[in-house]
Amino acid sequence: MTLNRILVIGAGFAGLWSALSAARKLDELGHTEETEVAIVNPVPFHSVRVRNYELPLDPTLVQLDAVLGPAGVRLIQAKATGLDSENHSVTIEHEGASETLTYDRLILAAGSVLVRPPIPGLEHFSFDVDTYAGACKLQAHLLTLPALPDTPGRYTAVVVGAGLTGIELAAELPARLREIVAQCDRDKVRVILADRSSKIAQSMGGAQHVIEGALSTLEVEMRPGVTLESLDGQSVTLRDGAGSERIEAATVVWCGGMHANALAAQLPVTPDPLGRVPVDTFLRAEGVPDVFAAGDCARILIDGTRPSVMSCQHGRPMGRYAGNNAVCDFYGIEMLPLSIDWYATICDLGPWGAVYTEGWDRKLVSEGETAKATKRTINGERIYPPKGGTREDLFRAAAPVVQTPPPAETRG
Ligand SMILES: Cc1cc2nc3c(=O)[nH]c(=O)nc-3n(C[C@H](O)[C@H](O)[C@H](O)COP(=O)(O)OP(=O)(O)OC[C@H]3O[C@@H](n4cnc5c(N)ncnc54)[C@H](O)[C@@H]3O)c2cc1C
Repeated sequence: MTLNRILVIGAGFAGLWSALSAARKLDELGHTEETEVAIVNPVPFHSVRVRNYELPLDPTLVQLDAVLGPAGVRLIQAKATGLDSENHSVTIEHEGASETLTYDRLILAAGSVLVRPPIPGLEHFSFDVDTYAGACKLQAHLLTLPALPDTPGRYTAVVVGAGLTGIELAAELPARLREIVAQCDRDKVRVILADRSSKIAQSMGGAQHVIEGALSTLEVEMRPGVTLESLDGQSVTLRDGAGSERIEAATVVWCGGMHANALAAQLPVTPDPLGRVPVDTFLRAEGVPDVFAAGDCARILIDGTRPSVMSCQHGRPMGRYAGNNAVCDFYGIEMLPLSIDWYATICDLGPWGAVYTEGWDRKLVSEGETAKATKRTINGERIYPPKGGTREDLFRAAAPVVQTPPPAETRG
């Protein structure tokens, strides 16, 4: 009979690796009979969210049973709605029924959500690639375009927000749209990438000019220095210092940044400006006994100085350490501090290739097909649990160690 429970909320990058890592540590200590690892997630799959700009979408998913089963982790398909850290309990809901689960150690790994400011029309008329469901909805909409009346904006897509997500999607869209529209309409395809920053890809350091060049080759129109004023399903209005411009567009995709899951606000902590729970080097929520947090809903000083970035790059190691440490903490064993001394950014640029930068100042390392090879390895292998992995394979992959940067031979 299991007496104790390590409870993980969310089976994204941070949550999946937290659960596997906790199961691994319990196995190593020989405590699997008395302590269970349970994970709460609303859907039965692990969404590899970083690939939501790609097609096809279905093969990007990992069925949770296949990974959690061999590791002995219990999947509870539900949504967590309430955290009560004083009473060590979590309320969950599934198909209208609610239940309370107690925990001995909690790992909050519920991720982040797309920020949606109150811009007229944004909620009803914009698409997104923030979630698997959102990405599927966008693609289903694109497929309906040829059947719509032949208006000037039928094949115009405006992507608003030129962070990495917006850039990656904008780079994909020209080819994706041209594949959908009839041969005779291909010239009508128009993709616009808009951002309020004075330059597109402003934060991309040494890769900024490469990204601009790639987007122009792909015929993506760049509109820096504009803000989204409104949208109505047929058009979008962008504003700059000189005034407003209305552009007819049947497709508007909002990529305006992420905020920590609202569950983070239920813990008695002072969140950071992104709504994240401050955690110490062991991933313990500051000032909340027995609660750990990892991934996009947590903020750690990742190298002792800089705050972690909402990314799978940081979310996966945060999970591995949080899971390990939750078990160690429960059994009074020394925990492991997390510190990562490297940072890399790989931005996909669709058929043009990709760019790969290293360091916080984003020094350009490779571009084009060389960087794309790195991106393929990351998106197709590196960030996945071992496919068809045995318990041993999964536990090996879940060990609390920091991976080295992507392999040198692909860095150009
Ligand atoms: C299109 C796109 C491209 C990206 N590209 C990159 C990239 O190239 N590199 C990179 O490092 N990062 C990238 N990111 C960011 C990256 O996806 C996130 O930082 C990462 O997914 C965070 O991992 P996480 O586990 O914290 O959260 P998530 O992956 O969002 O997982 C959260 C999990 O919690 C579950 N959940 C949510 N609410 C609840 C609840 N109430 N109860 C139970 N479960 C809940 C969700 O269903 C989900 O399974 C990209 C993001 C997007 C959208």
